[in-house]
Formats: sequence, C-alpha cells, structure tokens
Amino acid sequence: MILHGKPVQERVLEHVKAGVAKLQAARGVTPTLGVVLIGEDPASQVYVRNKKRAADSVGIASRDCLYPQGLTQRELLELLRALGADPGIHGILLQLPLPKGLDETAALAAIDPDKDADGLHPTNLGRLLAGEPGTVPCTPAGVLEILDHYGAKLEGAEAVIVGRSRLVGKPLAQLLLARHATVTMCHTRTRDLAGHTLRADILCVAAGRPRMITGDMVREGAWVIDVGVNRLDTGKLAGDVDFESVVERAGAITPVPGGVGLMTIAMLLKNTLAAAERQAAR
Ligand code: NAP
Repeated sequence: MILHGKPVQERVLEHVKAGVAKLQAARGVTPTLGVVLIGEDPASQVYVRNKKRAADSVGIASRDCLYPQGLTQRELLELLRALGADPGIHGILLQLPLPKGLDETAALAAIDPDKDADGLHPTNLGRLLAGEPGTVPCTPAGVLEILDHYGAKLEGAEAVIVGRSRLVGKPLAQLLLARHATVTMCHTRTRDLAGHTLRADILCVAAGRPRMITGDMVREGAWVIDVGVNRLDTGKLAGDVDFESVVERAGAITPVPGGVGLMTIAMLLKNTLAAAERQAAR
C-alpha cells in the first residue's frame, strides 16, 4: 500500500477550515500566524511561501516579518517577544534553520509557548515528554496522522526511528511511546543499523541521507515512513528510503514527494488554530 499524504492533508485542512469559520462566527477572531524569516535561503523562502498559501486556503491570516538582510540575536529575541505580547498574533512560526551566528535554542525559548505553532519551545517539548497536553512538533504529528489515517497498529509494535533530531526523531519517539509502541532510536553511532531496521514493524526514517535505507534493511510487510527530503544534484527530490527496492518488501510506504512533506504544513495550521482557540477562550 502506498501511504499518500494528500488525502490525509486534505482531511486535516478541512477540519482546520471548519474550525476557523467557527471561531470567526463565535468570537470574531481570525487566527493569525506571525511568520519570521531571516536571511535569503531559497529553500526557506519556498517553505514560507507554501505555508502562507496553505494558511490562506483555510482562512488563517499571516503577518510577515521578513528580514532578508538579517537581524542581530538581540533584535530577533525582541521581535519574538513582541509577537508574543501582541494579541493580534495567535501563532508564531520561526523558519529554521536560522542563518549562521544566530542561536536557535535561545530563539525558540523566546517564543511564547502558547503561540509556539511549531511545538519546539522547551515547555512544549517537556509537555510531550511528560505526556501532558501541549503543542506537538508538526512533522512528527503529521507522521502519526498518516499512520492513524491508514490504520497502522501501533500498540505493541516494534517501532524503529532512524534520526534523533529535536525537530523529528526525538518527538516522534515520544508520540509512538505514548501509543504503546516499543521504540528503538538509531543515529550515526548506532552499531549494525540494519540489525535494528530489520526488526521494525514500523520504520520511520529522518536522517537526511538520500536513499540510505534499502530493501535488504526492511522486514517483509513493515510499514515504512520516509521523512527525508533531499535535493539531488539532478535537481530531483529523494527521500531517505530507496523507494524502488523497499516498496518490494514493505507492507506500506510513504512516497517522496507526496507523503510526510504534505503533512507538516497542515499540522502547523492545526496548531495555529488550536492556539487561537485557547487564546480566544481566555
Ligand atoms: P538532522 O537534524 O540533520 O538529524 C539527522 C539525524 O539522522 C541525526 O540524529 C543523525 O544522527 C541521524 N543520521 C544521519 N545519518 C545517519 C546514518 N547514516 N545512520 C544513522 N543515523 C543517521 O535532520 P532533521 O532535521 O531531523 O531532518 C531529517 C530529514 O527529514 C531531512 O532530510 C529533512 O529534510 C527532512 N525533514 C522533512 C520534513 C518534512 O516536512 N517532510 C520536516 C523536517 C525534516 P546523529 O544525531 O548521530 O548525528
């Protein structure tokens, strides 16, 4: 089975659109996302454009804070705090990676956790670890949404994650643990990677290494979630999974493009709506 992201994305966006309309009717509030983009990284510019377009399509407004010439660390922290204090902004998106010289961890910590649309503030990451309600990082949340949409059985499953970043691998491990999977995390110091991946019922790969997972590393019938997005020299996009060889063995697999990537923006908008609902209820 091919786990296409499109129908899952559409379902999430429909819910968000309905939620936005309801909030506007009930409270007169239009959820608004403050988008902070520093520098001129072309990939980041494309992401931000796509995020704004998707926000538009569900009735979420965005306010641009674009600094192509850069900002100092102090100015960035001041900007993030000002957005936090602004009642007209419900969600804040700080586009990562930041240009060299800016401290990502300090910047994330300066975002109001209630407006943290990406779920990367330490408070929200801590809530995830504690099993408390909070904002969940968008890409791992999107992975869970795909698994649930297509009916993956998570309880008791052997889940193996390749990659341990703050953005994807670590929060994804917490989400799968909370759903009672037995989780193994692999990284660059893991001995015998294939020995782990071959045990997986659910194999999630977020390593940023094009096509590193090949068919011989995957158990027959496993569900394979490819988070990787890598631009090849040819200009084509490739995942971290070698689709051609893995599709022969996997029970289910996400394509790249057209899989997890479609979910990240949808979950960002879902988080923004939830933030606006919380703030309007106060
Ligand atoms: P990252 O911060 O670079 O982390 C990569 C992780 O993979 C690290 O933990 C690293 O281990 C591990 N790793 C790298 N090479 C490995 C290898 N050969 N064997 C085992 N582990 C290895 O990357 P990220 O931000 O998590 O992103 C991962 C991928 O997902 C990228 O392709 C990125 O473009 C993509 N992504 C997609 C979306 C989306 O919307 N679809 C969103 C976010 C990211 P160490 O910790 O030991 O270095």
